[in-house]
Amino acid sequence: MRVYNFSAGPAVLPLEVLEKAQKELVGYENSGMSVMEMSHRSKDYEAIIGDAEAKLRKIMGIPDNYSVLFLQGGASLQFAMVPLNLFRNSNKADYIESGMFASKALKEAKKFGEVNIVASSKSDNYSHIPSFDKAQFTPDADYFYICANNTIYGTKFTTFPDTGDVPLVADVSSCILSEKLDVSQFGILFAGAQKNLGPAGVTLVIIRNDLLGYAKENVPTMLDYKVLAENESMYNTPPTYGIYMLKLVFEWIESKGGIEGLEKMNREKAAVLYDFLDNSKLFKGTAAKEDRSLMNVTFVTGDSELDTKFVKAATAAGFVNLKGHRSVGGMRASIYNAMPKEGIEALVEFMKKFEAEN
Ligand SMILES: *Cc1c(COP(=O)(O)O)cnc(C)c1O
Repeated sequence: MRVYNFSAGPAVLPLEVLEKAQKELVGYENSGMSVMEMSHRSKDYEAIIGDAEAKLRKIMGIPDNYSVLFLQGGASLQFAMVPLNLFRNSNKADYIESGMFASKALKEAKKFGEVNIVASSKSDNYSHIPSFDKAQFTPDADYFYICANNTIYGTKFTTFPDTGDVPLVADVSSCILSEKLDVSQFGILFAGAQKNLGPAGVTLVIIRNDLLGYAKENVPTMLDYKVLAENESMYNTPPTYGIYMLKLVFEWIESKGGIEGLEKMNREKAAVLYDFLDNSKLFKGTAAKEDRSLMNVTFVTGDSELDTKFVKAATAAGFVNLKGHRSVGGMRASIYNAMPKEGIEALVEFMKKFEAEN
């Protein structure tokens, strides 16, 4: 039996995708072998990675002057790759500190250049997106960095900073493909796969081509976006099976009406849970209303013992991984693309029952 898995990542995948992968596991089409056993230079595999990229380009409307890279090292390696590749003139970068992952990213960037924290919500334990003022931006910054959706705190940017000619870089690990995004607003978008794209082990990078080629001489070859782009993610062996899984997820997204279809579903799904939280006498949301994430919903009862009791009871009832991140406590329901609306409706029913009994 499958449970309703509210994990923040690695996270739920569409059942249809898992079943298709199962069907093709030991023999992919007419190849006579598993995708895991294929040379990454084979015709069959070239078709798989080519298809994955083509589908993603179509789904997201990625302009032709951007490269799509399937890498490794997780979103966390991008915290270093971004500064290593984009510090090129002033050696300065602007960061908005909206959560732990943004904070980790800026710490990494400080190793390589000058970091200006334009705005921070750290003193409020990142319960909202800090307001930012263009007057604070560094006019000659080499790039401007944000984390678009803050997985741990359940907040997201609803409008992106207008950075003019300064390339905007966004960590979209926990919100990619959840709603429409205008790729042309960004210099770089990146995401670890294990939230909304597929299994852990693949990192997706979308980079505007004019930002390639600035890595300094001493930057390791494997960390140079230009080398990775020129070799179409095959400078070395890419995470072949993970990329195949992404391809299946992209096919599933097409079957759901693309981004428009998913966004509509995600808004309905999130509304079910937030409406309940707003009317509950026991549970309450912890993120500022105007910054609420569509993907990660954080909430508490106000009593940590009752929180623990709730998580335990929910687990026993088949709603798993609802414990909040250790840095905030309480609960978090991650409701990525693959979480069906029925899962959230069933969770709300369970919460109502818990509330009545407590
Ligand atoms: C999960 C997550 C990360 C870390 O991803 P790894 O792939 O484990 O390095 C970074 N940023 C955000 C927004 C995340 O949700």
